[in-house]
Amino acid sequence: MARRTRTRLWDPSGRRFGIPTHPRKKVPPHLRTLRQLAAEGLRPGDQGPQAQVLWCSRVPGPPRVRAAYLYDVRLAMPKRTPGRRTRTAAPKGRTCPECLTQPIDHRLGVCPDCAEEAAA
Ligand SMILES: [Zn+2]
Repeated sequence: MARRTRTRLWDPSGRRFGIPTHPRKKVPPHLRTLRQLAAEGLRPGDQGPQAQVLWCSRVPGPPRVRAAYLYDVRLAMPKRTPGRRTRTAAPKGRTCPECLTQPIDHRLGVCPDCAEEAAA
């Protein structure tokens, strides 16, 4: 029984399902689900689903086949994180536009040194 189930969900050429299909224990090592990519700090990038993994749900009730798309980790891109955007944008906004080294005083629009120079 179990053996037949594994075969039923195995279609590496995609002939039966239209997309290469692997049972959970036979997923090639370079393929990841969205959740696995995210756990590695990656996102699919421009690629569409490369394959799918099918498995029988263990939830009580009538047997249901669950599916998840798989993406090629070699085509994946680093995840865009708000943290990285903030890190590159923040220092620019806080640096004095005159000397480009001192932190800005927001009331003056420049750093205190440059404000003093401008006033002198
Ligand atoms: Zn300055």
